[in-house]
Amino acid sequence: MVRKSLVAGNWKMNGTRQSSAELVSLIREAAPFRCDTVVFPPAIYIEHVSGLLNSTSVLIGAQNVNSNDHGAHTGEISPTMIKELGCSYCLVGHSERRMVYGESSKNIAAKFGALITHQITPILCIGETIEQRKAGQTEQVVEDQLSAILEAFVPGDLSLAVIAYEPIWAIGTGETASPSVAGEVHGFIREMIRERDYDLAEGMRILYGGSVNPDNAAALMAETDIDGALVGGASLKASDFIEICNVTGRN
Ligand code: PEP
Repeated sequence: MVRKSLVAGNWKMNGTRQSSAELVSLIREAAPFRCDTVVFPPAIYIEHVSGLLNSTSVLIGAQNVNSNDHGAHTGEISPTMIKELGCSYCLVGHSERRMVYGESSKNIAAKFGALITHQITPILCIGETIEQRKAGQTEQVVEDQLSAILEAFVPGDLSLAVIAYEPIWAIGTGETASPSVAGEVHGFIREMIRERDYDLAEGMRILYGGSVNPDNAAALMAETDIDGALVGGASLKASDFIEICNVTGRN
């Protein structure tokens, strides 16, 4: 099965209303790309950026969501709210959320479920620390993070999702997993999904994330089990992000 590649740009907590508009207008001019493309602005700018992307092929996502639909959750944003602003994707389980904000597998599964209920595509981020890699625990860590989701949902629900393998030691460090190292973990992830359901595994897009840039993107994307990229730092520079989208053209 041919999986359409996807490039996702995670802007994290960066930019201003003005710089977000400038960035997105350059991406808009360069679109459409051969890959699916989605940007994740800070929540406060989603509505503005969503308006600027109206009637283009570039989609919009949220970096975070609460698993509840309403209620006493000060500072949080619900799935209905992000959907109303035009989000069709949402990140879940990003290592910064797991490690800095203490999100557990249980929180992550609850968010994942809420997104599925609202037909918003979750991009489930998984990956190991440098200590875990050095201790030979990469597969175990990835397996634990992934099985918390694979066991909690039926294949019909899981089929809406995207997985992002993001080795934590490669995020924001300038150090990228080599194509063969990343490809090996992607193969392991796909095999795990295949054990659950063959068709689910064939259709599931598995992105690589961790210091992807215009110089390393093509080699990473050439790996059979790498179906696109989750891009942090390089998604803030229009020319870099556009170049990554241009080399991620499998469709
Ligand atoms: C990320 O935070 O998801 C990420 C991949 O960041 P960077 O590309 O900057 O490593």
